Amino acid sequence: MCISVQYTPRDQLEEPWDAERQLITLPSELHEDFALRALRAVLHQLDIPQAESGARCWCGEPIGLLPRIPQQRRSEQVIHLGA
Ligand SMILES: [Zn+2]
Repeated sequence: MCISVQYTPRDQLEEPWDAERQLITLPSELHEDFALRALRAVLHQLDIPQAESGARCWCGEPIGLLPRIPQQRRSEQVIHLGA
């Protein structure tokens, strides 16, 4: 299973790496370059070798950074429901 990326507002982010789902969660406040840098930092901590640019899965496939707006909307709805 390849590594995928999702975004969560920083105050709801508890654990950036979910080993069971092979899922890296980044703060949704981060913009493109900063999100990529944060992603590379997590991958580095997981001992996954990285090329000079971009981000790579342990299998060598590039990891894409997806648009983050739908995730944010879903989180906001959860907050409203819980209130
Ligand atoms: Zn992979």
